[in-house]
Amino acid sequence: MSDFLKRTWAEVDLDKIEANYLAIRAYVSPQSKIMTIVKADGYGHGAPFVAKAFDDAGTDWFGVSNIEEAEQLRIAGIEKPILILGYTPPEFAGMLIKQRVTQTLFSMEYGEQLSAAAKEAGGTVDVHLKLDTGMSRIGFLFHGEEDAPALLQDGAAAAALPNLRIDGVFTHFAVSDEPGNPFTRTQFERFIRAVALLEEQGLRFSLRHCCNSAGLLNYPEMQLDMVRPGIILYGLTPAVGMPLPIELQPAMALKTMLFQTKTLTPGTPVSYGMIYRTPSARRVGTLPIGYADGYARSLSDRADVLIHGKRARIVGRVCMDQCMADVTDIPNAQSGDVVTVIGRDGGETVSMEEIAAQMGTINYETACLIGKRVPRVFF
Ligand code: PLP
Repeated sequence: MSDFLKRTWAEVDLDKIEANYLAIRAYVSPQSKIMTIVKADGYGHGAPFVAKAFDDAGTDWFGVSNIEEAEQLRIAGIEKPILILGYTPPEFAGMLIKQRVTQTLFSMEYGEQLSAAAKEAGGTVDVHLKLDTGMSRIGFLFHGEEDAPALLQDGAAAAALPNLRIDGVFTHFAVSDEPGNPFTRTQFERFIRAVALLEEQGLRFSLRHCCNSAGLLNYPEMQLDMVRPGIILYGLTPAVGMPLPIELQPAMALKTMLFQTKTLTPGTPVSYGMIYRTPSARRVGTLPIGYADGYARSLSDRADVLIHGKRARIVGRVCMDQCMADVTDIPNAQSGDVVTVIGRDGGETVSMEEIAAQMGTINYETACLIGKRVPRVFF
């Protein structure tokens, strides 16, 4: 489709992005709002463009990891509320106020710094309280009743901070992608209890939220006032083999091209380290994609690409900018042909999950690693 680029590019289908959002919207309880998570450049898909598609499809909120990502959305014309899920240096309080961005409040120490900086900036920062119910990452600790006194003290102190306005409260699950693991229910019960304690203290929350993608699919009863899907919006599964109650469409395809082919005699080494030698006369094609594009070195001698709807194995080491594929069984393969590295070609598919497994990681990381120099093409 975009082979005019003739090197390496990622195609992002915004109709699929929208269809995934609408499928999730139809599944999520009508009482729950949706915060679409577009951190890490929209899981590598290109945040400003996918955010615009989610915005048009009707999302309620956006979730990002830092102030730069929030600002990028505002520059792209996104007016809806944005929550920064991670740390923002207090010096940026003025920017949070100016851009109307909500910040995660995860400790009293941070709350005091942020409130002081907001006072200096002459305004008030909206915050959502983050409760650590078992992830042990960020948040006010509540792992059991023994943490209640400290939580109540912090809750009262946070509510009294003059330049912060507490609007929501949330937590994050550690194992919601494991439907049989009782720890998600433990975390949910801790969350509900902690919120009740804070409400007894006089705090009021208009938004309580805890579900990521796997959480909202596996535990629909935990959706509360808002859910925070990420990976499923892009059509990718939260965990290998997890049954999906909704149909998802992978929105991104990674493509490159064949730019040289040659026939090598038996026993010829290919690429750095000579880890591969042709077992017989082989026709080998060179592709302008390498680990600097996010096509990891661990895919050497392992991954398949698709040419004319057929699989071709990567042979030898993946280099920084190039790699080689055995095209012997695809006689019509020639220079200039489009190669599908991740995606579908004819009846064959190389999924993000397949490549992730071969890299020894998860689809989240594979998508995020697709390099900055790979242009995203939207259609
Ligand atoms: N909420 C928080 C706090 C997150 O950190 C993330 C992503 O890591 C998400 C929601 C979205 O998670 P997922 O992509 O698994 O839906």
